[in-house]
Amino acid sequence: MKVKLQKSGPYHFEIKGKIIGSDYFRIIAGPCTIENYPDLLAIARKLKAMDIHFLRGGAFKLRTSPYSFQGLGKSALEILARVGEETGMITVSEITCIEDLDVMYRLVNVIQVGTRNMNNFPLLRKLGEIDHPVILKRGMANTVEEWLLAAEHILAAGNRRVILCERGIRTFETATRYTLDLSAIPVVKAQSQLPVFVDPSHSAGIRELIKPLSWAAAAAGADGLIIETHICPDEAVCDAGQTITPEALQQIIVPLPDLLKLWHKTL
Ligand code: PEP
Ligand code: MN
Repeated sequence: MKVKLQKSGPYHFEIKGKIIGSDYFRIIAGPCTIENYPDLLAIARKLKAMDIHFLRGGAFKLRTSPYSFQGLGKSALEILARVGEETGMITVSEITCIEDLDVMYRLVNVIQVGTRNMNNFPLLRKLGEIDHPVILKRGMANTVEEWLLAAEHILAAGNRRVILCERGIRTFETATRYTLDLSAIPVVKAQSQLPVFVDPSHSAGIRELIKPLSWAAAAAGADGLIIETHICPDEAVCDAGQTITPEALQQIIVPLPDLLKLWHKTL
């Protein structure tokens, strides 16, 4: 089986004046889950001051355990939209089921499909019928070919604004939460023109690993990063152990331009 719709390029697209793909490397940052308005505004203001334009925050969380916090739902999206308007940032949040498509479409700028939904083809086809950019995370147990074919479901339904995101796969290794498959970046780029982002937070699960994995992703040719960031990571309701401060993120960003020169990219 071959991909058909993602081979011709060069490929990039624009959202609210910011280009994704091509010569640009973009950073998406923010908490795993939206907890309240003041905290989200505080983190957004810090990120914006660091020249980061994309604010992430979960509203509907797909948690492995039914006893873990499931997200604030629609009220979290309203908080995200308000903070997006107040800061001018471009908002990113995960859709977990087709029923939420209308509310996601209204309140979020970039819609993420998480690892657990990469194989939800009816959802992907619906996302192909809208014009919001879609971040398609790789299924934790899916091959690159399956991932690219999942992207084809969105493209074939008419939405060309797809970003792929490598977020780690299941292997025998237990030292990290998942194993970050950095080889997927050049492998995808040989077959597809779609932008490829990397999420070191969910793949590592360990805050100290975010810096080296982010640098490695940039050196391997990624088009951007998604990094869980919180004003007070230890108090984050969700994924605290892998969440970093804006200050730690800044330390990751400072040397990035040198790495990005390898690929003629800029921040
Ligand atoms: C997330 O980004 O909030 C998330 C749940 O990621 P993943 O689907 O990769 O686990
Ligand atoms: Mn998370």
